[in-house]
Parts: sequence; structure tokens; C-alpha cells
Amino acid sequence: MKPAIDKASVSPMMQQYLTIKDAHPEALVLFRLGDFYELFFDDAITASKALNIVLTARDAGSQKAPMCGVPYHAVDKYVERLVDDGFHVAICEQTDEIDSATKIVKRVVTKLITPGTFVDYTDDDPRYLAAYHDGQFAYVNVASGDVYVEAVPASLLASHIAKIQAKEVIIATGSKRMELEVSMTSVTPRVYYAKHPYQRVLDLLVTYIEDTQHQAIQHLKEPLELSLSDRLHMDASTMTQLELFESSLRREKRGSLRGLLDVEKTSMGRRFLLDRMARPYRDLSKLNTQFDALDTLQKSVHLTADTRHLLDMIFDIDRLVTKINFSTVSPKELRQLEASLSILPKLAALYESQTGLLGKLTSTFTEFQELQTFIDNMMVETPPLSSKEGGIFALGYHAELDRLITVHERVNESLKALESSEQERTGIKKLKIGYNKPFGYYLEVTKGQSGNMDPERYTRKQTLVNAERYITPELKAIEEELFTAEAKRIALEESLYHDVVEDLQRHTKSLQALALSIAELDYVTSLSFVAEKYRWNRPTFSHVMSVQQGRHPVVEAYLSDPFIANDIDLDDATRMLLITGPNMSGKSTYIRQVALMVILAQMGSFVPAESATLPLFDKIFTRIGASDDVMLGQSTFMVEMLEVNQALAQASKDSLLLFDEIGRGTATFDGVAIAQATLEYIHHEIKCMTLFSTHYHELTSLEHTLGTLKNVHVSAKEVGGELVFYHQVKPGAVDKSYGIHVAKLAKLPPSLIKRAATVLTELETQGVKEITLFEQPKSTSGLQQKLDALDLDQLSPKDALALLYQWQNDDE
Ligand code: ATP
Repeated sequence: MKPAIDKASVSPMMQQYLTIKDAHPEALVLFRLGDFYELFFDDAITASKALNIVLTARDAGSQKAPMCGVPYHAVDKYVERLVDDGFHVAICEQTDEIDSATKIVKRVVTKLITPGTFVDYTDDDPRYLAAYHDGQFAYVNVASGDVYVEAVPASLLASHIAKIQAKEVIIATGSKRMELEVSMTSVTPRVYYAKHPYQRVLDLLVTYIEDTQHQAIQHLKEPLELSLSDRLHMDASTMTQLELFESSLRREKRGSLRGLLDVEKTSMGRRFLLDRMARPYRDLSKLNTQFDALDTLQKSVHLTADTRHLLDMIFDIDRLVTKINFSTVSPKELRQLEASLSILPKLAALYESQTGLLGKLTSTFTEFQELQTFIDNMMVETPPLSSKEGGIFALGYHAELDRLITVHERVNESLKALESSEQERTGIKKLKIGYNKPFGYYLEVTKGQSGNMDPERYTRKQTLVNAERYITPELKAIEEELFTAEAKRIALEESLYHDVVEDLQRHTKSLQALALSIAELDYVTSLSFVAEKYRWNRPTFSHVMSVQQGRHPVVEAYLSDPFIANDIDLDDATRMLLITGPNMSGKSTYIRQVALMVILAQMGSFVPAESATLPLFDKIFTRIGASDDVMLGQSTFMVEMLEVNQALAQASKDSLLLFDEIGRGTATFDGVAIAQATLEYIHHEIKCMTLFSTHYHELTSLEHTLGTLKNVHVSAKEVGGELVFYHQVKPGAVDKSYGIHVAKLAKLPPSLIKRAATVLTELETQGVKEITLFEQPKSTSGLQQKLDALDLDQLSPKDALALLYQWQNDDE
């Protein structure tokens, strides 16, 4: 319902609302009215549904305006829900000014909150605002100030948006090509079309943030320029298929690699982990420096645990710094900053004698004492949530403020003195001074003694059942002094606090550098904790791959049976493994465990193996399982072919390709043909290390023609008609397939299993060539039987023709 309302017919306040709403048609306007933020008209209907809150109505001229509201102190959580649902929210605040014409308080939009610029969310996962311009893809996590820039061809934009799960994307108005690219992504970011003239992609981001936040942005960090050369590249579907961040079955952390690694104690460490998982290193010296640090931590008995205990007490310094720069930091949050800084000397002491990465990370930890002492001395022990109600500063911070604070004490003394002098004057021992909200200070005597109160001097203020209350000019004066002092104090504290926050902004760079060091310390000590918990070992790097007793970290962690470890050896002579084995034997698990080991190693983590030598890969591509993208309207097979194409187009000889049963989604011959051609292409053209699992036995003969391809199989054995899985990877191809045994394990009806076994025997004896798969195999037909029964030597041409006519009619 558009507010089709004659502005002249509504109250001044509603007029004010309609003007503001007109200026922000794309946003839900949260309009401050006393202790509530109210929404009206369509906004109210939308928000009441999204937030599940009651819809009411308010008079607006000739009609009623739908209305709903949320209390101001809980607004953050409602805004988070609206923003998560993809809405823009305009926060409209009351100002101190009164509009002279209408006599109502002026209101202004102080902030426009969009999915990509929202900073007050409650979890740690980054929310990215991305922009694309001129081959450059940039994205920022506004809450932490992290900025990344990457050169990305337009054709890969959709995949990059999906990889960072961007919440909002800015592109230039009018580029149909870009609009199409963005619409192809499997996540659903909000898209903003920029109209400004701009030069660089970073300008797009900064302008947008400043426009929405209504202030200059100073807290963004130096952009990290990601180049393909020093990172291990993975696209969004590879990360999904390897279940790096969430399990594909339940789409939750549990069951994913993150589920094992995410033991960070700080939010900063957690973001660091997510960053490293998505963008592992390809820089040997950086990795070795980190492994040395892990070695040190592993050797020292308590170091990891002691560090983690201290890190647990540190708050999210990045986000506190952002809030300081937005001037939205609360006094309570400044205390959190101080508390965090107070931990640093203890951490520094733990690493006093360390050189290498650990020494470097903690080397600046002693430099924040001055700042910590300043905040500590400035504030009371437990400061309030709001900076607008006073009670923030400790005595000694500011002389005038001290005076105003002590007015309270002096007033109390004056009141006591007045009480005793009035007792003396009236002779009433029980006279006392009291206070209540509506009436302020009063003198109280019992009903029986009220006769002794001189009406000239004592003005009656309130009558109770048993008592009378009075005021005097002296009492009024004391009250005035107190109230004035209180108001002055609150105003002074607010302005002092504003100055403090502004002054703290000059620490932005050093605090952000500190946050990064804490993040990395948290990351390394978490990896140390995980390595010890799961008995992982330090890998080395070389141009060959040689893993002894490797395990799949996630399957192992959740399996009740012991996990069967396996080796893998790839070198210049053997670069491709063709993996066969029954369903359920562990082919996928084997392929995935190799990928996870490579990723862990390049994240600088120890790996789940007795020993591991690994190449430093530039890219990993996978095609595992069916990840249909229904949203994109593509079939399983089409998605498979697109992903294979992406992999083949982008892989170099330093890449790792992992293909699990390619070609399964089409007819057998097509499937075999595509799989074989793919293997040949990789062998001849790309020459990269490749693991390829298949059910097509036909492919195993490629070992003879493709020089660097070797057959291996995951062993299983039929024992007394039942299939036993060994999960062991052995040289050579598997002798037969066991699909029907697995169907039996899945408890398909016995008659069906029996029939399948018969069909299989027929297929095997007749040869695949003569069989059309998936059609009812015809047993010898009636026609064939009749033909077989004829003695052709005895048949005249005329009889033969008659028979032909007869059979034709029969068949019709
Ligand atoms: P399909 O051909 O049907 O896709 P697959 O051969 O790829 O099957 P996986 O999915 O890898 O089989 O493994 C099936 C199950 O076997 C796993 O979920 C796991 O529980 C178990 N498994 C696999 N490998 C091992 C191992 N090395 N040790 C112990 N259990 C394993």
C-alpha cells in the first residue's frame, strides 16, 4: 500500500515521516518516537511479517496508517534480522532541535544499514560488501576493516562472489553483461548499481560506505592484494564439495573441516582461520616459519594451553576499533578494550625468550600499557552501556566533572544539616527529609504533629494517610543545585566522552596491527591444539607427493570404527591414479583426504598422516558428487560438464585435479567416452597430478596407453555372499564390481536383488554391446521362436509371404 496520502491532511509528525520516507524509498524507515522505533504503511506490514511483531494502526488524516514498532534498546537485534533478510534499513533519529514552524522535534536519517555495511552482527563470520570494476574485484568486511583486491576476469565474477558469499555487490549502472554475471552466482547478494563517476574499484566501496553511514570512513585497512601466485586457488564449488566450511548434508559446521579447526579463542583468530581456509598459502618460507612455530608450541608442555587461557579474555579489538571510528563505541566497550589490553603483558611474558614467528607476533604486546592505563584511570570500574546518561568517568579525570560529581555528596551533607536544624526548629524529633520522583525533596512529619508546622514557613506538598509532606525555600534551593549539577554532569560527560573517543581514533593503525598479531597467535596456537588432539604431523614440501598412513581428518573424527590409513605416492613417473572399487569402499574418502591434506599443509597446519611430503599446488579443482544447482536451472550432468570444463580450462601442471566418477550422469557409452577423453586430455595437455575414481572397468586398460597413469583399487572382498570392506588402497584395478552386493546391504527387496543378479549374468554373457541399458531386456520373443521353428528348405515363397503377412498383423 503506497501512502497515497494528502500530506496536508495529516499531523506535522506524519508529514515529517512521509518526507523522510520519500527520500528513502528503497529502505525500511525506522522512525524514532520516544522509546520506540516505529514503522508505518507498507514498511510496517513488511516488518511485522519479517520480525513477527504485532501490526497496529495510527491515525493519519482520513485513514489509519498500519504501524509497528520495536523498543530502541533492542533495535540491534531487529535490525540484524531485517538485514539478514536482505532489507535496507534507514535509522531515523530525533535531534535536539525543534522545528520552529511545526513545533515538533526535527528528525534525520543518521544511518542507512545495508546487508554489506551492517557491523553490529552477533557472529564472527565476515560479511562482505563487494564491488567490481574494470577487471578488479574488491571486497570489504566493514566490521573488521579488512579489504581485499583481486584481478578477476568478468567470466569468473559469479564464482568469486559465491566464494566470499558476498552480502551485497556494487556494479556500475548500465552494464548488461555485469548484471548477467552477478545474477548467475549461486548466493543471492543484494545488488547496488552505482551511478557516481569513479576511477578505481576501491572508490566504489568507500563512496558507498560513506554514503550509507553518513560519515567519513577512516578505519579501512590497507587493501590486501591477492595474487594467484602466492595463494592456493579454489573456487566456490570446490570448497563446497570438499566440505571445508559446512557439511553438504546438513549445511552445518559439524562434519566440515571448519568443524575441527574452529577452536579459536578470539573472534579475530576465527576470522583469520576462515581467511586462511579460503586462501591457503603457496609461499614456502611463510609456511616453514609457521611450522617452526608449531614445532615450538608442540615441544613446550604448557605454552599452547596457557596462551589459549589468556586469549580467552580478549575481546574483538578489530570491531572495537571500527566502533571507535564510527563513534558508536559504548563506555562498556571501551572497558572491554582496556581489559583486552591488560592481558597483553602476560602474553608477552610467555614468549619473552622466543624468536621466530611467535617472538615477532608478541613483540609489540608491551607497547599498549600507556593506553591501557589511560582508559583504566579514566573510567569507573563498570561503566554504563550508554554514553548519554553519565556515570562513565572516575574521580580525578576532570576537575569540573569532579565538582559536579561531588555536588551529590555535598548535597547529602546539606540535607542532613537541614534535617537536624528543622528538627530543632519544630521540636519534632521524627521529622525527616525524603525524596520521590514526582514531588522531589520534602520534609515529612506524622499527621498528629502537622499542627506544629508553621504554614507561613512550610508549604504543604502532599498528604498521605498518616503523614504530611512540606517544602521550604531552603530545601527547594538544595534540590535545584542538585538537579542542575546532575544535568550539567551528564552533558559534560557526554562531551568529554565524545572527545575521548575521537582522540582514541589516532590509535586505529596500531590497534589494528595488534589485532592482526593476536589473530595470528590465536590461529597458530589453535592449530597446535588441534595437531596435538588428533595426532597430526608436520609436512614437508617437494615436487613429489608421498604420504604414509594418511587419514581423512573429518571422517576419522566422527567414525566409531577405526579409520584405515592409506598411503599415496605420486611423482614424475606416476602423476595420475585411476581408482576403482565397489561402492562404499572408500574411493571418495580417499580422494577427499588427499585434498584436505594439501589444503591443511598450505594453511600452515600439520596434517593427518604419519609423514607427508607434498607439492605446493597452485590450484585445486574437484568434481565430487552431485551438486545440482537447481537455481541455475542446470541438470546434474550439465553442472558436472561445466565444472570439468572450468577445471580443465584453468588447471596448470602445478594443479591438483580430483574427479570422482565423471560421466556417470549419462548413458554408459557416452560416460566412458567422456571419462576416457578427459583422462587423455589431462595426460597429454595439462600433465597435473590427478585422482580419478570410476566404476567403468573399461577405463582400467588406459594404464597401458597413458604412461603416467596407474591403476589402484580400494579393496573389498566377498565372504560367504556378503561384502566386506577393507578401505585399503592397493595397486592394480578391482577384479569386478559389487553394485548388487551394496544394493543388498541397503536391504532392497530380495526378489529385486535376485532379478538384478540374473540381468547382470545375461549382460555379462551377451556383452555390453548388445544391450540397451535401462530397457527391459527382451527374452527370446514369440516371433523369434516361430522363426526358429521354420524349416526354410521346405517353405515355398508363397507360404513365406503369407506367414510374413500374418506375423505383421499379429504384431500390430
Ligand atoms: P560410492 O562409489 O558409492 O560413491 P565410495 O567408494 O566413494 O562409494 P566412500 O563414500 O568414500 O565410498 O566411503 C563410504 C564410507 O566408508 C564412508 O562414509 C566411511 O564411513 C567409510 N570409509 C571410507 N574410507 C574409510 C577408511 N579409510 N577407513 C574407515 N572407514 C572408511
